Amino acid sequence: MVQEPIVIVGGGLGGLALAARLAHRGERIILLEKNAELGGRNRPMRVGECDFDGGPSLMMMLEPFQTLFKDLGERLEDHLEISLVDPSYRAFYRDGARLDATPNVARMLRQIEEMSGPKDAAAYPQLLGELAALYHASIPTFVRNTFTNPLSYLGPKPLGQVLRHRMLGNLAKRIERTMDDPRLRMLFSFQTMYLGLSPFDAPWVYATLTYMEYGDGIWYPQGGLPAISEAVANLARSRGAQLRTGAEVTGITSRSVTLASGETLAAKAVISNADLPFSQRTLSKKPNKRKLRYSCSAYVLYLDYAGELPELLHHNVFFGQDFRENLDDIFHRNALPKDPAFYACISKRSQNDRAPEGHENLFLLIPCANLDRPWTEEDACTLRHTVYQRLAKEVGFDPDRVIAQGSMSPKDWQTQLNLEKGAAFGISADFLQSAFFRPGNRDRDGIYYVGASTIPGNGLPMVLISAELAARRLAQDGVIR
Ligand SMILES: Cc1cc2nc3c(=O)[nH]c(=O)nc-3n(C[C@H](O)[C@H](O)[C@H](O)COP(=O)(O)OP(=O)(O)OC[C@H]3O[C@@H](n4cnc5c(N)ncnc54)[C@H](O)[C@@H]3O)c2cc1C
Repeated sequence: MVQEPIVIVGGGLGGLALAARLAHRGERIILLEKNAELGGRNRPMRVGECDFDGGPSLMMMLEPFQTLFKDLGERLEDHLEISLVDPSYRAFYRDGARLDATPNVARMLRQIEEMSGPKDAAAYPQLLGELAALYHASIPTFVRNTFTNPLSYLGPKPLGQVLRHRMLGNLAKRIERTMDDPRLRMLFSFQTMYLGLSPFDAPWVYATLTYMEYGDGIWYPQGGLPAISEAVANLARSRGAQLRTGAEVTGITSRSVTLASGETLAAKAVISNADLPFSQRTLSKKPNKRKLRYSCSAYVLYLDYAGELPELLHHNVFFGQDFRENLDDIFHRNALPKDPAFYACISKRSQNDRAPEGHENLFLLIPCANLDRPWTEEDACTLRHTVYQRLAKEVGFDPDRVIAQGSMSPKDWQTQLNLEKGAAFGISADFLQSAFFRPGNRDRDGIYYVGASTIPGNGLPMVLISAELAARRLAQDGVIR
């Protein structure tokens, strides 16, 4: 008798990693992706003659990547050629100061001392120590946890860790107490923006992201970050998983899936990798009664630039004059930031063939409000103009040299990837939507979830862990052996 398949809806990295894990355990897997290519937010883009990472461009926290390959009896280095990007990024400040962030402690100490003096330099090693301890305490307890056993997060040991590391204190305030220089405060707290969360609204536990950068470093896989999705898709295929693209799903129950084509598939279990609020509202038509909060969005530009910008490294962060004002505009006022902080990336620095000779593949990411503020073409023009002006002033950028341009706006994140409210980083990772408060990986109707809007959260390493947790949950429930 033919075994009923497990059907996974969505071919983002979360869906692909789960497909690979389950197929490796001998399950029959059908994965259905609505778009023409796999990878979801982590997909490749080509604009003009340049190649780009479609969304994520920072590979951090290697351990979940290595674990996935190891659990499948493989070695990451046999499938992906990765190297450390050092300096991690160049920070540009409004007063003209620059700092090259690096996991090299001696180089960081020298730069901190030059920028701000001995007091902040002396505080840096202690900060790093606290971040390392926080990271090693929080990941096993509050990240790799399905939260099905209350003792695993409410027992004396986990609660002791919360108190010892003061995990729930405000992140921005603690950094303010540690560093005197406002530029260093921004430098060590802005990382929560990777989750689409303001550091002024984030608990200290998210400083684990700062540790990932300064303790572990930032990595680059040849082929760009979409090469990760491709390698994981290949793992899944090699173990027999069927990965179908152009296969939009319009309805799900715990045991069946309906496609836009009219086809219906019976399933042993259904796992949605589509954004969880979208899955519940549109696919299973059982919206979460709980009112969910959303991350910010991002306006992303992919530019084929006919010229050279030698002052830009692979990764670059531009801070505006008033960080707090910038973030309050995005998160609390739904306003367009007047002097936005933004990120610029030229992956050609680590892989020359991503842009032709004499060109730069310039990727710009400008954090902005989600669709709580309706997106307009005027918003796009204003943000583009402001960022171009800053780049012209600081690194000699000339808008006339942009010979091809692609973009992703909050509206595009919604229409192309079904991200509710165009929130590029999924549901918010604020305290009351983190750890055991975050929507779990199975709902009351028996539908399973994997990806950024379920446990543990957003970011490539987290969605890989979410695939580990979904496989664990399916085993606990007796769906798989
Ligand atoms: C601009 C940007 C920058 C980022 N930068 C970083 C970074 O530097 N480092 C990092 O680690 N993370 C980063 N992230 C976060 C990271 O991209 C995500 O956490 C991760 O890619 C999410 O993977 P996922 O599998 O959960 O979801 P997705 O990648 O969103 O995949 C979900 C898939 O489901 C499909 N789908 C939806 N509806 C249906 C349907 N009805 N039928 C069939 N298929 C459907 C979608 O098309 C999509 O392919 C960034 C994100 C963005 C947007």
